[in-house]
Amino acid sequence: KSGFVSIIGRPNVGKSTFLNRVIGQKIAIMSDKPQTTRNKIQGVYTEDEAQIVFIDTPGIHKPKHKLGDFMMKVAQNTLKEVDLVLFMVNAVEGFGRGDEFIIERLKETKTPVFLVINKIDEIHPDELLTLIETYKDLHSFAEIVPISALQGNNVDRLLDQIKKVL
Ligand code: GDP
Ligand code: MG
Repeated sequence: KSGFVSIIGRPNVGKSTFLNRVIGQKIAIMSDKPQTTRNKIQGVYTEDEAQIVFIDTPGIHKPKHKLGDFMMKVAQNTLKEVDLVLFMVNAVEGFGRGDEFIIERLKETKTPVFLVINKIDEIHPDELLTLIETYKDLHSFAEIVPISALQGNNVDRLLDQIKKVL
């Protein structure tokens, strides 16, 4: 199984931390260098039965100026071309206006979307349930997966679910 997976989400939700854990230190460090490529490969996860190419999709955020409109169109096309989108949110901050904007963009594509609720190590299980209910009403996500990228909770399960859709 192989495919392309785009990770999107507001800054600081834990995208790099997740990639670090899945792919390893080296590549994630590389990916933090400024690059001009629009859709940069952040890392390739390989094992016997699977190859997953994680790509960054800059521009899925509320445009602050005119150039933002162009970036948005580029990003929008990327979402169509990948096999799966991981939309990562921060369990601590909860649902915000930045998320709302991204969800609107997600509705414009047929690509399946997993909602990844990260940083569950910092919240109470009851809060997680409430968050899941909130997000469920906003979009029909193919999966909702709570993880802690930092501590590793549920990351293997997320990988298994990714492999299933590829
Ligand atoms: P990015 O901007 O989406 O790439 O976010 P980063 O991966 O750079 O993470 C931003 C901050 O959140 C860093 O200080 C991370 O250590 C922290 N962080 C990431 N994942 C988790 C998590 O699962 N739990 C906690 N408590 N902190 C996390
Ligand atoms: Mg990052």
